Amino acid sequence: MLNELLLNLALLMAGVLLLARLDRPGPPQPRLLPLSLLGASGLGLLLMYNAVPVAPGLLLDLRSVVVALAAQRYGVLAGLAVALPLAAYRWLLGGAGVGPALLNLVLVAVLAGSNTGWLRRVPWSPDDDLRRQWWVPLRVFAVANLAVFPGFALAQRPLPDALLTYGALTLFSSVGLVVAHSIQQGRLRAAQRTLQLEDLAYVDSLTGCANRRRFEEDFAHARQPAYLLMLDLDHFKQVNDSYGHEVGDQVLVIVGATLRGAVRTSDGVYRLGGEEFAVVLGECHEDAAFAVAEHILRCVQLQVATRAQLPGESVTVSGGLTPLSGDRAEVLRAADEQLYRAKAAGRNCVAAMTRVVRGLHPARAMTRTSAPRH
Ligand code: GH3
Ligand code: MG
Ligand code: MG
Repeated sequence: MLNELLLNLALLMAGVLLLARLDRPGPPQPRLLPLSLLGASGLGLLLMYNAVPVAPGLLLDLRSVVVALAAQRYGVLAGLAVALPLAAYRWLLGGAGVGPALLNLVLVAVLAGSNTGWLRRVPWSPDDDLRRQWWVPLRVFAVANLAVFPGFALAQRPLPDALLTYGALTLFSSVGLVVAHSIQQGRLRAAQRTLQLEDLAYVDSLTGCANRRRFEEDFAHARQPAYLLMLDLDHFKQVNDSYGHEVGDQVLVIVGATLRGAVRTSDGVYRLGGEEFAVVLGECHEDAAFAVAEHILRCVQLQVATRAQLPGESVTVSGGLTPLSGDRAEVLRAADEQLYRAKAAGRNCVAAMTRVVRGLHPARAMTRTSAPRH
């Protein structure tokens, strides 16, 4: 019996290690969750296939650990979903232990998921660690495995055998859950650290926009036809000189947020440095690119100064628009050239080879800004 339980434990570890690849930090992902639960059921079935027959109609294995693991991570409903195919298979196998086995699966799902709730909605927390709370699984299995006793009674097996099976099953299941859980948590922690490091490497800490490094990596992967809009704040030095560097920083933060709000989520907004931003418009034709450029000019002109609480001020940008294809240095040079033209054409406009689009006339902009207050 010991050897077979050890084999069950080894299979459980290997399966959990594989399934952990489907797990992500944060709330459950609708795309991955069904796959994850299906995989857990598959693992449970494999464990049942390698069960120890302790008596006719009585099977011993670690199937309930995968149910507990799912319930703890995703909630009671997820535990019950994983348990359903296992219950069906156990019912098909038949024997005296069927009823108690089904009861055991339900109890494990409910008890193990009791702290998580019916369905986990809150993001995963790195504090979930069973190694420091070993009594939690012990309590779950000590209660749920009481179902062993009616099983042995129905099979008319002696009480000492039932006690031995109950003890071994509870011990192995608890150890199995602690180890499986720490494998799962280790994987989640590593994934979270990777996300944090990616944030540090690719996100501009002031504005929350992607940074120049991300821009350089994304450049080659823009979905064609694509356009690059290079933007530079107009007379930004004056903002710093008049209101101080902190207000200037705040304006940059608001510009970043305004740009992100003005484009599709699939477009990229980057802070290339200082008061210079880039917008990459993927799968975008020329007319649409000009429409987005015009929209951006208006959003910045109408929103930024107000949101930065600089009434009467006008914060605007100028831009250079160019098709994004071919050599990066060439594209950047072309965008810079157009940006220079836009500055020379009076600012608050976007220039491209074919035309120039302008922001609102200041007088109209003032009317638009004040409109929402009425
Ligand atoms: P132009 O319309 O020709 O672009 O004029 P400008 O004043 O925006 O251009 P210039 O290049 O002369 O000045 C850019 C200013 O941007 C200078 C610098 O103080 C400011 N700046 C660059 N990075 C930051 C930053 O991170 N925070 C703040 N507050 N200011 C910055
Ligand atoms: Mg500049
Ligand atoms: Mg500038």
